[in-house]
Amino acid sequence: MYQDKTLVCKDCGQEFVFTAGEQEFYAERGFENEPQRCKACRMARKGGNHGGGERQMYDAVCAECGKPCKVPFQPRDDRPVYCSDCFRNRR
Ligand SMILES: [Zn+2]
Ligand SMILES: [Zn+2]
Repeated sequence: MYQDKTLVCKDCGQEFVFTAGEQEFYAERGFENEPQRCKACRMARKGGNHGGGERQMYDAVCAECGKPCKVPFQPRDDRPVYCSDCFRNRR
């Protein structure tokens, strides 16, 4: 019932295919708008500046339990860093 459709990306101007499967998916969710951007541009927007969608993480040591952990910001000596478990327990 759906057919592949060729759309033009708003960001890069490249043509991309809005596949029958995607159209069905959109219809199921009740989305009325067709996608405006190709997959690459959509991914780029989601991922921000780091590309690939991976956020830069820094190694740190939890000030509470001493476990090594990763945090999404550069740890500083004057600010304690907590692992996700301890961070949650503090609230
Ligand atoms: Zn594009
Ligand atoms: Zn901890």
